[in-house]
Amino acid sequence: KVVEGEKLRKKLHNTILELKGNIRVFCRVRPLLSEDGVGAEANVVSFPSSMEAQGRGIDLAQNGQKHSFTFDKVFTPEASQEDVFVEISQLVQSALDGYKVCIFAYGQTGSGKTHTMMGNPESAENKGLIPRTLEQVFETRQSLQAQGWKYEMQVSMLEIYNETIRDLLSGFDASRLENGGKQYTIKHDANGHTHVSDLTVVDVQSSSKVSSLLRRAAQSRSVGKTQMNENSSRSHFVFTLRISGVNESTEQQVQGILNLIDLAGSERLSKSGSTGDRLKETQAINKSLSSLSDVIFALAKKEEHVPFRNSKLTYLLQPCLGGDSKTLMFVNVAPDPSSTGESLCSLRFAARVNACEIGIPRRQTSMRSSDSRLSIG
Ligand code: ADP
Ligand code: MG
Repeated sequence: KVVEGEKLRKKLHNTILELKGNIRVFCRVRPLLSEDGVGAEANVVSFPSSMEAQGRGIDLAQNGQKHSFTFDKVFTPEASQEDVFVEISQLVQSALDGYKVCIFAYGQTGSGKTHTMMGNPESAENKGLIPRTLEQVFETRQSLQAQGWKYEMQVSMLEIYNETIRDLLSGFDASRLENGGKQYTIKHDANGHTHVSDLTVVDVQSSSKVSSLLRRAAQSRSVGKTQMNENSSRSHFVFTLRISGVNESTEQQVQGILNLIDLAGSERLSKSGSTGDRLKETQAINKSLSSLSDVIFALAKKEEHVPFRNSKLTYLLQPCLGGDSKTLMFVNVAPDPSSTGESLCSLRFAARVNACEIGIPRRQTSMRSSDSRLSIG
């Protein structure tokens, strides 16, 4: 009887996992900042306290209308970096078990993507997911050694700016701007391994080594100035940790990959006051963000053709999206009233991502790559 019950429980668990799929969506609302200015304290974001919605619901008020959303998890402004990490540490663990994992941060500029992903790596309290992930990986590696596991780890960091890859670990020099003649061509081999030609890949043994790499990458990140935020990031940042493990007694092998991606700001064109180069940037960002959503929706619908090749980002991540890989998307939201329009767009997009994996039939609003913005209201 106990065995039967256990079997049933496992079966049920697997069914739920299947239904749930491998895409999860977490929402994180940042606190109000002094920069948000006067009138910012008007509460446009609230969190329902009902049993069902607690910790998973978010309400956004716009022009007296309330828009409600539910995600796998909603982090209020009080949530600490540690609180957020606790919820993803299982995913980090699964990379050590040989899974391919992608964690994205999506949202308008200034909504807290970089804070969530990187934070301040030097601060015990404020360090974000990337430094915490590395610490956990190195700690776990240590403890798995006793069971005969030997792990090798490699880190690479790149950004994709205007559909061009830049290596963030190749040194900080002017030639980088023209790529120094480097190609950074993406190739996938038959084993699902991705190679980016000329990209610096560093073997890492300890988290202190990685800290200096993170510093180097932060210096190299390109920043654009828009009216929204002096340091607004106009590029996608991709941190990749490759993990290969072999058990010396059982000869079991695992190959896991963890990608942590700080996406470029999702804001619409007009708000950034874009012209010239900024306009080109915005168009490239829109194209790759909509390519990402096209891929996610095609995977969810189990379509035969998944348009991975439509952008550098999706092509780079192809082996880590779909199949038995695991994807988590953070939708970052700013709480001030002047961001409400953008927040609504982000939440609607995230809700569609969230809905497609639990098999709820969606409205047939197709999203084409040519759309100049991602969210359809
Ligand atoms: P993005 O990368 O989306 O443009 P940032 O991560 O740079 O946004 O966040 C914008 C500002 O808000 C930064 O000054 C950042 O330190 C602050 N911030 C974002 N999220 C939080 C948070 N959860 N707690 C405290 N400050 C935050
Ligand atoms: Mg940022």
